[in-house]
Amino acid sequence: MSKEKINLLGLTHDSLVNFFNSLGEPNFKASQFMKWVHQRGVIDFDEMTDFSANLRNQLLEVAEIKPPIIEECLTSPEGTKKYLIKLDSGSMIEMVKIPEKKRLTLCISSQAGCALQCTFCATGHQGFERNLSSAEIIGQLWLANFNEEFAQPISNIVFMGMGEPLLNIEPVLDSISLMQHQNAYGLSKRRITLSTSGIVPEIDKLSSRTDVSLAISLHAANNTLRNEIVPINKKYPLDQLLNSCKKYLKDKSKRHTITIEYILIEGVNDSIEHAKELVKVLKGVSCKINLIPFNPFDGSNYSRSSDNTIQAFKDFLIQKGMITTLRITRGDAIDGACGQLVGKLTKSIRGKNTGNSINLINTS
Ligand code: SAH
Ligand code: SF4
Repeated sequence: MSKEKINLLGLTHDSLVNFFNSLGEPNFKASQFMKWVHQRGVIDFDEMTDFSANLRNQLLEVAEIKPPIIEECLTSPEGTKKYLIKLDSGSMIEMVKIPEKKRLTLCISSQAGCALQCTFCATGHQGFERNLSSAEIIGQLWLANFNEEFAQPISNIVFMGMGEPLLNIEPVLDSISLMQHQNAYGLSKRRITLSTSGIVPEIDKLSSRTDVSLAISLHAANNTLRNEIVPINKKYPLDQLLNSCKKYLKDKSKRHTITIEYILIEGVNDSIEHAKELVKVLKGVSCKINLIPFNPFDGSNYSRSSDNTIQAFKDFLIQKGMITTLRITRGDAIDGACGQLVGKLTKSIRGKNTGNSINLINTS
C-alpha cells in the first residue's frame, strides 16, 4: 500500500524546516519553498528550479501541495465574489472576496458547519461537519491570490466565514503564521481579524500566541438574551467574555481596540433599551462597534431591523461616544451578505442541503 503523502501547503515555517531537515536538507529550503508556493503560486515541484532534481524527486515521492477546489464562483453587481469550495471529504465551505476602495478583503471559513447554533446564523442551523486543516484554511487565501490569472492580491483577511475559529485553534494559528510570514503573505496583524462568538479560554490562548485583531460577536448585552441567541453564552457569560477582552487588550500594548459585532434583528435586540445596555456593558472595553443588519435566510424566523431602527440605534451609540460603524450589506444578489449560498448551491449540486451560510463581512 502506498504511503499517504504529506500536504505541505499548510505547514508553517518551523514545520517546513523540520520537514526539509528530515530529508537531509538545510533550513533555508523551507524559505525557498514558501516563496514558491505562497508568493508565486507554484505547486508543481518540477517548477521549483532552485531545488536539485534529486530533491524534487524526493518531494514527489513523499509530499504534495494540494489546495482545495473551487466548485462555483458567483459575482455580485458590486464586484463581491463568492466561492463555494469543495474539500477532500466532500464537505462544502464558502469564501468571499470583497473589493473595497483601498483593500481587497477575503472572508474565510475555519470549519465546515458550526456546532454553536446561534439562532440567527445559517451555518449554526446546519450543524457541525468537521474542522478544516491548516492547508484548507490557508488554501483559501492561496486560491484567492493564485487561482485566477492577474488576480489582485488579498490585502485583508477576516475569519468570518463558516465556523468558530477558536474551536479549531491550532490549524487557525498555523494559517495565521503563514499569513503573517515574510516569505509567505506578509500580512500585518492589523490586516487579519479573527471573529469569535466568545470561547473565553481560547481567547486567552490566542492572546498568548498571536497579535491579530479580535472581533467579538456580541449581539446582545444581557445574559438572558445572549443565552438565547448565542447559546455559548451559557458556558461563557458576558462578564467572563468582556473580562477576557480587556485582558486581550492589556496583554500586548500593540493592541488598541476590539471590534464588537452586533447584528440588528427586528424586535429582538434592536431597541434603544438594548443600545443603552450595550453602552453600559462595554464600559472600560476599548472597542468599536460594528452594527450588522441581519441577513435573512431560508428557515430563519427573524427579520432585518428597519432602516429607521438601525439608524436610531447607531445614532444613540454615537451620541454616547461609542465608535460605531454600520456594515454595508453587499452582494445580496448572490446571497453575499451572510447568506444561504452554500446551502442553495449544495442543494443544486448535491441534491441535499449540507452546506450553509457564510457570515459576511466587515466592511467598516
Ligand atoms: N463563529 C465566528 C465567526 C463566523 S460568524 C463568530 O460567530 O464570530 C461571522 C459573523 O457573521 C459573526 O459576527 C456572526 O454573528 C455574523 N452572522 C452570522 N449570521 C448572520 C446573519 N444571518 N446576518 C448577519 N450576520 C450574521
Ligand atoms: Fe457558529 Fe459564528 Fe454562526 Fe454562531 S455565528 S453558529 S459561532 S458560525
